[in-house]
Amino acid sequence: MFRKYGGNADCGSTTLGADRPLAIIRNLAAQAARKAGTTTEFFMVQMNYRALVSTMRALMGPQGRCPCCGHPFVNERDIQIEHIEPPCHAQDWALLHARNLHISCGSCNRTKSGKSFAAWLDEQERARLKS
Ligand SMILES: [Zn+2]
Repeated sequence: MFRKYGGNADCGSTTLGADRPLAIIRNLAAQAARKAGTTTEFFMVQMNYRALVSTMRALMGPQGRCPCCGHPFVNERDIQIEHIEPPCHAQDWALLHARNLHISCGSCNRTKSGKSFAAWLDEQERARLKS
């Protein structure tokens, strides 16, 4: 689990290097860059994915919790980063920017499915008030 973070050679692909939070964000940037037909560096700098590295580092630490439900993350794959508003096309830079990204655990992410972000927020708040 999270104890493996921070430079153990057995934490996964050796090509990703020891800085796992940076590697995860760079991997997301690379995936986004492939879809948009641009470079990983463009997403890291111009789309500000580099700002997510410190967030990911904190979330992967012992105090990391889902901002939606407040539960600790199960593992690094449970930290899910999704667009708040889905981009309309491959180079929809405004919506591809890191400012349009939202972090939640897998369980919370599944409750959103096809709903708009605003509708999902309302639903989550109603559930919180009932509990
Ligand atoms: Zn959650």
